Amino acid sequence: MASVVFQHVVKKFGAFTAVSDLNLEVRDKKLLVLLGPSGCGKTTTMRMVAGLEEVTAGDIFIGSDRVNGVLPKYRDVAMVFQSYALYPHLSVADNIGYPLKIRKVPEDKRRRMIMEVARRVELDGLLDRLPKQLSGGQRQRVALARAIIRTPKVFLMDEPLSNLDAKLRVQMRAELKHLQHELQVTTIYVTHDQIEAMTLADRVAVMNKGVIEQLGTPREIYNDPRTLFVAGFIGSPPMNLIDGEVKDGVFTSPGGIRVDGLGSASVARAVLGVRPEDIHVIPAGGAKANIAAPIYSVELTGESTLVTVRAGAALLAVRADKNFAGDYDQIVQVGFSPERAFVFDRQSQERVD
Ligand code: ATP
Repeated sequence: MASVVFQHVVKKFGAFTAVSDLNLEVRDKKLLVLLGPSGCGKTTTMRMVAGLEEVTAGDIFIGSDRVNGVLPKYRDVAMVFQSYALYPHLSVADNIGYPLKIRKVPEDKRRRMIMEVARRVELDGLLDRLPKQLSGGQRQRVALARAIIRTPKVFLMDEPLSNLDAKLRVQMRAELKHLQHELQVTTIYVTHDQIEAMTLADRVAVMNKGVIEQLGTPREIYNDPRTLFVAGFIGSPPMNLIDGEVKDGVFTSPGGIRVDGLGSASVARAVLGVRPEDIHVIPAGGAKANIAAPIYSVELTGESTLVTVRAGAALLAVRADKNFAGDYDQIVQVGFSPERAFVFDRQSQERVD
């Protein structure tokens, strides 16, 4: 059993609070993603688990052990950093085998384990090279191999894919997911990339300004965002967020958007949220539309077309069919079902429906 538990964990740097009253359980053998914008406290949280940063208050447990004050080397965690942190003067084989060497594993056994793990990440032809003779993706795999050469209680991965090009990132993402499934090691994975979070995580903790705004499965976070921040952060392109007023379940915006049927809510400073994929372009003579709006831009993405329309002062992103044809300034009817819309309170930043 190696869950990681945070109890009322606080980290301050001088007067600045980087992590504020963190309560979280990373379940045994599961992958939890810490997701949030730059500076929200993800890396600091990770470094506290590793023992590279002391907690200011609260407790961290790995399994049943309280690890506050325990030196990094006694915590039995393995880390993969964005920078890979390889030893430049050591060969690929020696980099991979380093954790075994410092644990005094005999050389022949070490060799065998290096070969085995190198095969697994497809580095077996490159064992004699130095890191500078490798591509970014190969270096990343060396860092990964070094982390998985022994089975630690916990893997800590801090943006391990961010230095790779887009294609390799997608490939490595699938590989990481497969490895985690196979190795069954509790993993904390830090990223600001919501696609990475959605694809890899068993659960996602969305962080903002040192606090967890929402914890849930990727599906829960996507389908049921509890705050304005989570709603805006998850989804690509992001959710449309339109300021206005809700009175007895009817939303109106200064730009002239009106949506009926939002229950019985009344919110003076409301934000209506609706995802681009939930808005439809309605053919002439079709069902009831919410909005008649001129086209602002049309972007073909391959599997669909992203259409942006002008709705009063607001721009609305709409995901349309890949065969959508439309011109700048052409008026189109767009609509969405009120069941697909979320209402937030601008004041409290919380969802009200
Ligand atoms: P990024 O995605 O940019 O790495 P992050 O979410 O990982 O961001 P952290 O690195 O955890 O953010 O930093 C959280 C906050 O704490 C930031 O505002 C940062 O400036 C601050 N901080 C981090 N380390 C220190 C330090 N040693 N001294 C002072 N402030 C720090």
